Amino acid sequence: MEDKKSYDSIVDCVGHTPMVRLNHVTTDIAGEVFAKLEFLNPMGSCKDRIARYMIEKAEKTGKIKKGDLIIENSSGNTAMGLAMIAIQKGYRLKVVVRDRISKEKLDQLKALGVEIHMVDSSLPPESPYSYNNITPLMAKETPNCYFPDQHNNRDNNEAHYLGTGPEIWEQMQGKIDYFVAGIGTGGTIGGTAHFLKEKDPHIQVVAIDPVGSIFYDYFRNGKKVKPGPYLLEGLGDEFLIQCADFSVIDDMFQVSDKEAFLAARELTLREGILAGGSSGAALWGIRQLAKKIKRPARIVTIFPDGASRYLSTIYNDEWLKNQGMM
Ligand code: PMP
Repeated sequence: MEDKKSYDSIVDCVGHTPMVRLNHVTTDIAGEVFAKLEFLNPMGSCKDRIARYMIEKAEKTGKIKKGDLIIENSSGNTAMGLAMIAIQKGYRLKVVVRDRISKEKLDQLKALGVEIHMVDSSLPPESPYSYNNITPLMAKETPNCYFPDQHNNRDNNEAHYLGTGPEIWEQMQGKIDYFVAGIGTGGTIGGTAHFLKEKDPHIQVVAIDPVGSIFYDYFRNGKKVKPGPYLLEGLGDEFLIQCADFSVIDDMFQVSDKEAFLAARELTLREGILAGGSSGAALWGIRQLAKKIKRPARIVTIFPDGASRYLSTIYNDEWLKNQGMM
């Protein structure tokens, strides 16, 4: 959010999030680590940026008109951003979510009046009813409907190329050695990395993918492995998608649910940053990177969303114990 006196609407508060240095959880890392607090966007995540950009682009190109229904599949955060845009601009919204979505995200979407279609996350990816397959089908069968398709629509990457990348460059005054970020649709890491590498080709980009997602093996050896189950929300996929741009990624680490969740809790307790699971994944990834490079570096990351979305899961001792993670 820019430091202005007032805004025309909540939509104009998207972006310009703060960058902070981590002081307590990185004491064993040589150099400095900075995190961009994307959970301070109005709807609480980095996905506000793409929700706004994809819809405004669709308006400019005549793909959507007032009153239309927006249909999208989302782990919850894009849905929240789209809800804000839909309410302000007069669209309806239906979202496809997986049944592993946290209760907090679901309750917030209901509060925003969003129509929800829940899919069984244990369905095989090739099932016509799976998270990835049902959404385009539903969009095709619905008149007066726009499907932004955040997984394959490169406007997703462009939003970060035009927003997140330049903001990071300015906030870091161009002094960056590594950019580390989780990969979900790939828009955040892809668009941001593209911009940063244009500015300084020496910047190395490291992606974090969950165990169970197919990106890691594809990046390492070009093989499409069978996806497995995992709980971390927002990262990884069971398909190769067009927004996941491996050409700007130099290295990739694979994080387990437990590693990501415990690192998120540590960020909250030791740094006072109420972090979501993918922020924990980023911190864990930075530690792996630091072990590998063994020299002082300036590392920048993104904290995509916050703890308030995961109080019943990652921040619930009973839940963690039931998952065998505590
Ligand atoms: N973290 C969270 C919590 C998310 O919801 C997302 C979005 N899927 C990401 C990280 C990854 O962002 P991207 O889709 O741009 O790769």
